[in-house]
Amino acid sequence: MKQKALWPISNDNWCIYEDKFVANQAGYLETMFTLANGYHGIRGTLEMASHYGRPGIFFANLFDLAPIHWDELANCPDWTNIEITADGARLDPDTCKLLGYRRSLDMKQGILFTSIRWQDAKGHRTLYESCRLVHAVNKQRALVWGRITPENWSGELVISGGINADIATRVGAWKAWMVIRHLKLDRLEHDLNGILYEGHAYRYESTLTMRTRLLVNGKAARETEQRRELLSELHRVKAIKGRPVNFEKFVAFQAEPLKKGSPAGIVGRELQSLMKTGIESTVLAHVTSWAKRWRTADVEIDGNQSDQAAVRFCIFHLMQSACEKPLLDVSIAAKGLHGEGYHGHIFWDTKIFMLPFFAVTDPEVAKSLLLYRYRRLTAAREHARLNGYRGAQFPWQSSVEGREVTPWLGYEIVGHEAPPYKFERQHQVTASIALAVDWYRRMSGDEKFYVEYGAQILIETAQFWASRVTLDRKRGLYVIKDVKCVDEYHVGVDNDAYTCFVAAENLRLGIQAVRDLKKHSPARYRALCREIGLSQKDIKAWRNIATHMYFPMNSKTGMIEQFDGYFKLPDRILKRDENGWPIFPRDEDPEAGRTQMIKQADVVLLFFLFGDRFSPEIKHKNYLYYLDRDTHGSSLSSNTYAIVGLDVNEPDRAYRAFCNSAYRDLRPGRDDTGIHAACLGGTWQAAVNGFAGMRLWGDKPTFKPWLPSQWKRLAFSILWRGSLLGVEMTHKTFSARLIKGKPVSIEVNGKNLRVTLRKATVPYSRKV
Ligand code: BGC
Repeated sequence: MKQKALWPISNDNWCIYEDKFVANQAGYLETMFTLANGYHGIRGTLEMASHYGRPGIFFANLFDLAPIHWDELANCPDWTNIEITADGARLDPDTCKLLGYRRSLDMKQGILFTSIRWQDAKGHRTLYESCRLVHAVNKQRALVWGRITPENWSGELVISGGINADIATRVGAWKAWMVIRHLKLDRLEHDLNGILYEGHAYRYESTLTMRTRLLVNGKAARETEQRRELLSELHRVKAIKGRPVNFEKFVAFQAEPLKKGSPAGIVGRELQSLMKTGIESTVLAHVTSWAKRWRTADVEIDGNQSDQAAVRFCIFHLMQSACEKPLLDVSIAAKGLHGEGYHGHIFWDTKIFMLPFFAVTDPEVAKSLLLYRYRRLTAAREHARLNGYRGAQFPWQSSVEGREVTPWLGYEIVGHEAPPYKFERQHQVTASIALAVDWYRRMSGDEKFYVEYGAQILIETAQFWASRVTLDRKRGLYVIKDVKCVDEYHVGVDNDAYTCFVAAENLRLGIQAVRDLKKHSPARYRALCREIGLSQKDIKAWRNIATHMYFPMNSKTGMIEQFDGYFKLPDRILKRDENGWPIFPRDEDPEAGRTQMIKQADVVLLFFLFGDRFSPEIKHKNYLYYLDRDTHGSSLSSNTYAIVGLDVNEPDRAYRAFCNSAYRDLRPGRDDTGIHAACLGGTWQAAVNGFAGMRLWGDKPTFKPWLPSQWKRLAFSILWRGSLLGVEMTHKTFSARLIKGKPVSIEVNGKNLRVTLRKATVPYSRKV
């Protein structure tokens, strides 16, 4: 007999599925099925078989100190587990046959559906169905509910579930060479509210409190069961063939970065309130919140269902990773809240690849990402001072306090000596933050933020660059020595084109910020000058440096040399597979940086960020040159080749690059360390900045549309300075309409278009 669905599921365009359980793929699938709400993230571990994968339970503000990696996001106790014993046989993928298996991530609603039909050794067939969510509104709540149906047997059904505190963090991003328990167990007990866990980080003052309650057929359990540090409520039910047994697991938690006494009472009340609200209303509030977010964030693609789902996958995980209210003083880590990779550290990724999405879909998030940096200006000043510079130098990797937390050894330190990675010499991160301040200001029109916070970031970072450059007397120009390129294969080089360009830009933004602050907040400006020791002489010097910064471009050929001496390195054009994608070389380690092979878009990234400063010819020839040598060893690469590819009329290459970015975390793999958060944002950029050709760098949005033959229609919306615009394009027409706010002028292929409540449509054709 077919039973009613536990909750209605959305259509295929909104879902990602897993149809077969493959034990050694559990790790990467768990990343795909992670649920998060910016505060808390939980990997998509199977409720009854978490031992297969790599359980990961994270709180965005819960870090602990760790050797070598300075500090890292703690892997916390697991609340997902539900164990089932059907008439004496435990439902376990090792001992049972799986007659049916499907997990579906419903991205429209933020719910993970699981359905498994088990057959144990005695021939009992049992159907397990569940739904799981991490609440989008009440961020300290989570829920699992479902039912278990004995299909061909009657007898005792045992269901248990609670908290497993026996969780540790694996150190070493790709290899588990060390395991660390970051939380010390203070309490794991059963009381009238269910299971209670309390623990604290060993080195930071952070605490975690968690409570779970498991009800079966609406009733509380009488028994508990403890195995090591797994404490569960246990229910024994007389199951009758064909009759489903319902269960509900309610979860509440609170992570506190600073010890404030025990919040066990608060978490208890949270759990009570969740239970009182009940499944139906709780899920409705969650689903409604997702619907609201999707209204501005969705990118619709008609004509290719899998591209559609892939783009939504990227947007979904990006939104999940962010706290949409400035509830917490956190940013988005390179691996989101989806895994232990990169220790939960924050990189330039957030500012260049993720923030642009939020700036035009949810500006509050973009603002809080910048405030995270603003609040760490003091640490950035100290960092600059320790390195012998002035101003504010943001660290390559950041976490709680904003000091440099880049591991002082490479990741793979097992068995061989660490090469001199010098990660922390990626000084461009400081300019990335300045650029992000400028974009946010332009896109949102948030002058209040700019005057109160943004301008200061621009000024102090400009002060850093002025102290970072040196004057090359022979050239009569300012140069930047000894950096690590964006392309991480090349380390300790001089005059990296990207770094020189963005440093000069940061100085210009600093000069502008001085002008603006003097005008709008003179008292603040004077106070800031006193605080950071800034004088008029400094500003004059900045101007001089910005106009006399060396940029390694050959004015005759138009070729930009990635850094001094790059063109003299042995050349290596990568072989391609049948899909035209580069084959990673086996005979030469590109990481050693001995050849011209590069890891990711570097010079080419300048053409996206500052496309209007280079001629189409220069962009095109450099694009082809660097593309031939790029291994795309980083997930931050393909999206740039997609966007710039469309700009330089290389649409086939661009579409291929788009796919590589969009499917990066959907392809079967062994990477169980988390999601590629920058790649998620980069995929959105590839669709919107690439195929719609949107640029927002001037005083109005501009578009240069082109659709791949695989698609029929592309539609999305953007928030531009308070006005919400709906944009839609087919192969022949481009339309825009105002959804909310004041009418806006935009430009389509260089022509002005006024966007009002009435949809305006213009034809376009683009020869490629
Ligand atoms: C990339 C960096 C990136 C880091 C974190 C590296 O592989 O080369 O650009 O910041 O990953 O995502």
